[in-house]
Amino acid sequence: NIVVVGSMNMDVVNRVSHHPLPGETIKGKGTSYIPGGKGANQAVAAARAGASVQMVGAVGTDGFGKELIASIARDGIDTSKILEKEGTSGLAFITVNDEGENNIILSEGANGKVTPDDVRTALGNANFDALLVQNEILLESSYEAIRVAHEKSAKVFYNPAPAHAVPKDILQLVDILVVNETEASVVLGKPLSTHTDYADAAKQLVTLGAKAVILTLGSSGSLYADNALTVHVPAFRVQAVDTTAAGDTFIGAFASVFSGENPMESLRFASAASAIAVTRSGAQTSIPEHGEIVEFLQS
Ligand code: ADP
Repeated sequence: NIVVVGSMNMDVVNRVSHHPLPGETIKGKGTSYIPGGKGANQAVAAARAGASVQMVGAVGTDGFGKELIASIARDGIDTSKILEKEGTSGLAFITVNDEGENNIILSEGANGKVTPDDVRTALGNANFDALLVQNEILLESSYEAIRVAHEKSAKVFYNPAPAHAVPKDILQLVDILVVNETEASVVLGKPLSTHTDYADAAKQLVTLGAKAVILTLGSSGSLYADNALTVHVPAFRVQAVDTTAAGDTFIGAFASVFSGENPMESLRFASAASAIAVTRSGAQTSIPEHGEIVEFLQS
C-alpha cells in the first residue's frame, strides 16, 4: 500500500506558432487539458505499475477539482482523503511553440492550502507501508508527511522537487531520496557537472542521512547508492518526444516494485517505465501500465 502526499494540477496546454510578446494577442492552435502535478503523476505511475495507491492532497472548488479527482480514480487510486479547498485547483498554464519550447505559469491553488494538520489527520488513520512525497505542496506539509510515515514505520520515498534544500532532521527520516541533477545540486549546496561528481554526489547524499539515494540523469540513466553499494543503470535507448513526467514515472514505478532488496531489478523496471513515458506526450497521458513495462523489458 502506497500513500502519495502531494500536488494535483490541471495542465492547460496551448499550442502556438510563437510565444506572444507582452501586450500581444495571438490565436492559439488548440488547447488540451491534461491532468498533472508531481504528486498525482507519481500516484498514477505507481498505480499503473501495479501498486495499491491512496492520494492525499487537495483540489479547488472550481470545475477542474472534480475532473482531477475523477481522472485519478479511473486509475483505481483511492481518492477518499482528497480535500476540497475554497478557490481554484492547482493549474499549470503551458504554452508550447512550433520549436517545442514551453512557457509555464504555475498557479498552486489548492495545493498551497494543504496544511501540516491536514496531512497528519489524513495519514493518522491510513494503512500504508510506503509514502511518496514531493515539494509541490507547502514544505512544512511535506515534512509532516515524512514525520508521520516514519512514526508509522512506513518506507519514505522523498523527491524534493521543485528543488529546495532539505533540513538534516528530515533527511534522516528518509529511506529513499530521489533527485535529478538539479535537486542533487541544491540539496548538496554545490554545483555538479562531471560523471564522477554524480557518483560522489549520490554517496555524499547518503552520508547526509538518507538511507539510500537515487540520482536520475535523464538519458544517461540513474545511479543508486546506499551504505553498501553504488550502482549505475543505463537508460533504455528510445526516441524521446516529451520528457514531461519522466522523473515522476520513474519514482512511481520504482516505489511500486522496490521491497528493500535488489535495487538493480527495480531500477531496470523504473527505467523501462520512464523510457516508455518519454516516447509519448503529456504528463499522465504518457505513463505506462504494468503489462506494457513488462513487455518492453522482454523485447
Ligand atoms: P526529471 O524528469 O525528474 O528531470 P530525469 O530527466 O532524470 O528526471 O529522468 C528520469 C529517468 O527517466 C531517467 O533516469 C531515465 O531512466 C528516464 N529517461 C529520461 N529521459 C530519457 C530519455 N531521453 N531516454 C530514455 N530514458 C529517459
